[in-house]
Amino acid sequence: MQMFRKSFKICPFLLLIIVFMTGAQAQTKEIAFTIDDLPLNGPPIGVERLRKMTAKLLAVVERNRIPMVGFVNEGLLYAPNETDARIAVLKMWTDAGLELGNHTFSHLGFQNASLADFEDDFIRGESVTKMLMKPNKIRYFRHPFLQMGATRELEDAFRKFIGERGYTAVPVTMDTLDWMFLASYAKALNENDRDFKEKVTAEYLKFVGLKIDSSEKIAGELFGRSVKHILLLHVNELNADNFEALVEIFKRKGYRFVTVEEALRDEIYRFPDNYAPTSDWLSHWASSKGKKFETPRPPEFVQKIYQGK
Ligand SMILES: [Zn+2]
Repeated sequence: MQMFRKSFKICPFLLLIIVFMTGAQAQTKEIAFTIDDLPLNGPPIGVERLRKMTAKLLAVVERNRIPMVGFVNEGLLYAPNETDARIAVLKMWTDAGLELGNHTFSHLGFQNASLADFEDDFIRGESVTKMLMKPNKIRYFRHPFLQMGATRELEDAFRKFIGERGYTAVPVTMDTLDWMFLASYAKALNENDRDFKEKVTAEYLKFVGLKIDSSEKIAGELFGRSVKHILLLHVNELNADNFEALVEIFKRKGYRFVTVEEALRDEIYRFPDNYAPTSDWLSHWASSKGKKFETPRPPEFVQKIYQGK
């Protein structure tokens, strides 16, 4: 009896700890940042401006200790009289301690290429990055346009090919459509239009918040829990000029920044039952489960400027 009473006294205390731990776990939001099209996404800019943009971005990444992976299109390194300077810009990333991945040489879409051509572009896309990453090895690949092989067999064949070379493909669960907003932002910069620049910035940051909420909601409905997200961004002046504000949005929403390696441990990154040719992982799973989700769209003016209207 004495024993029983003793253990009974401990029980509520244990229960409290369990409740506390479960609650804490439910509130943990984790995300791995990835950024594509290194050294530059979107319309070309001079190499000095490119250097400044990169330094701005990396300063925020370092200050916030974000273990971001940058995916490189080595084809963008080659420009008359600028190749060395552009490689030096790429080296700023590894000097900052960040990991680089392969995004093919020429940003080739898998769906417009044969397996052999896609594999060639992959191999061609790693030579400079391999050198910069030493003594570490490149281990991540991102499909351009998030296009995976048209069939599961094609994608499996490609994954076997890159797997033998030590690579893993990295899908995404969240993006900000920054490439679309960039058209408006670049217009504002070109026309030196301060008011428009501020308007685009405000709309972009608002949209980032909406996209985070949307991805959380869709992931919750698909998996019944919060997942380890992988964010897709692009290297451009829109993000570089606003990176601190963007990072703040994630912090305010309770996110912790994790490595891609850590995020990929989430079992959602296995293949769903039914294949869809996209590394947009939530829509891949939604399509496999026969579900449809509406996602936020940028304001109409942003869409129109992107479409050149
Ligand atoms: Zn890309």
